[in-house]
Amino acid sequence: MWTAKVFTLYPELFPGPLGSGLYKKALEKKLWSLEVINIRDYALDKHKTVDDTPFGGGSGMVMRADIVAKSLDKNILDKNEPIIYLSPKGKKFDQAYAKEILSKNINIICGHFEGIDQRLLETRNIKEVSIGDFVLSGGEIAAYVLIDAIVRLIPGVLGNSNSLEEETFEKSLLEYPQYTKPSKWEEKQVPEVLLSGDHAKIKDWRLSQSEYITRRRRPDLWKKYKKDK
Ligand code: SAH
Repeated sequence: MWTAKVFTLYPELFPGPLGSGLYKKALEKKLWSLEVINIRDYALDKHKTVDDTPFGGGSGMVMRADIVAKSLDKNILDKNEPIIYLSPKGKKFDQAYAKEILSKNINIICGHFEGIDQRLLETRNIKEVSIGDFVLSGGEIAAYVLIDAIVRLIPGVLGNSNSLEEETFEKSLLEYPQYTKPSKWEEKQVPEVLLSGDHAKIKDWRLSQSEYITRRRRPDLWKKYKKDK
């Protein structure tokens, strides 16, 4: 069973959106599990302080290496499991990385304030991962993003595993447009070919739509697609 351990100052935020719908069912079926560790439980004083002012001055606070390290060391028994620190300075998260990381249980540290003492990242072999070029106030929402993207790849979590194969980013293409009933709505008709029942034609149409959208919206992906084709 794939397990994600989340190290956070706000354990009440979990499972959050990961505890509803398909993911709730998958948790109940034990297709995956989520463990939440409250970093504050490893604080050294009665006020449960986890941060301090930065050496060298500057604004904000920094999470202490010793306290976060204690929370990791007490909870990560298998030293081969990757530890990820969510950080805007990290490697950009993408679909390929989501697939890769599914092969191991993961440990995710959610940062706050100005971040974490650099020595923790170095001594615990922590990989920094970013969900995009913007700055959030904390790592929890980024943790949802990572876990959400990974859990849906676990066999059995989505109803139909075929739906994964055709998706956006598979084969470096964006997905074709989707339609459902009613076939005519607000004067707009569903593309005729989708009602034809001709599976070969539908497949061709979808591929050409995917190519068209990718070429127009994502020249970077389009280049990759042409190269791999
Ligand atoms: N001072 C830091 C930003 C800290 S933001 C800097 O300039 O790099 C506070 C916390 O939010 C971070 O520790 C991190 O865990 C989380 N966070 C912010 N932006 C993120 C992003 N793009 N991806 C992943 N985590 C992010």
